[in-house]
Amino acid sequence: MRVAKETVVAIEYTLKDDQGNIIDASGDRGPMEYLHGAQNIIPGLEQGVEGLVAGDTKNVLVPPQLGYGEYSEKLLQLVPLTAFGANTPQIGMRFHAETNLGMRVLTIKKIDGEEVTLDGNHELAGQTLHFDIKVVSVRAAELTELAHGHPHQSGGCCGGGGCGSGESSSEGGCCSTSEASEGSCCSTEEGASAGGCCSTEQPVAQKQGGCGSGGCGCSA
Ligand SMILES: [Zn+2]
Repeated sequence: MRVAKETVVAIEYTLKDDQGNIIDASGDRGPMEYLHGAQNIIPGLEQGVEGLVAGDTKNVLVPPQLGYGEYSEKLLQLVPLTAFGANTPQIGMRFHAETNLGMRVLTIKKIDGEEVTLDGNHELAGQTLHFDIKVVSVRAAELTELAHGHPHQSGGCCGGGGCGSGESSSEGGCCSTSEASEGSCCSTEEGASAGGCCSTEQPVAQKQGGCGSGGCGCSA
């Protein structure tokens, strides 16, 4: 079976930047499974996998506009230090916040006296991504997977068996780290891949994991 819309695809991959540094790899985590055609992964990678069969390997070059976007100065904003209340902001710290562009992952880029610069760009914005991929399996998606927009076996940040129950996800149980409670990691598109509670488990290439877009609440 070839990779096409409405197939569930498992790929192994290594992601490198322009300098050849490894940014992410499926490695020990095992293959990344996603529902093709459902925007589970970044567009450039999805296009690159289209039409392949199990066992195929390929180098896929993804320009910023088909990856995590161009870097935009417009996504920088200044907030007063006092906005953090009792928390002590540190450079590199990430959190989710409602912005005028919707829910985004913000990174603390600079702290200058009483002013904190927040960066709403994805950490890989502006970067050309070099994927070495291997297709491990391709299968037809189940109807429930199509309805939910994500695969149900062994995928997602919950490592198997879907995303658990609604109750556990509301406790942040889905991702099982302490950060989950602060950031609803699974509730935003970029949250899952851009850090937050999924950052240790979630493949970078996975735009919205099995837990994204309502996945956490699904009982499948
Ligand atoms: Zn589901």
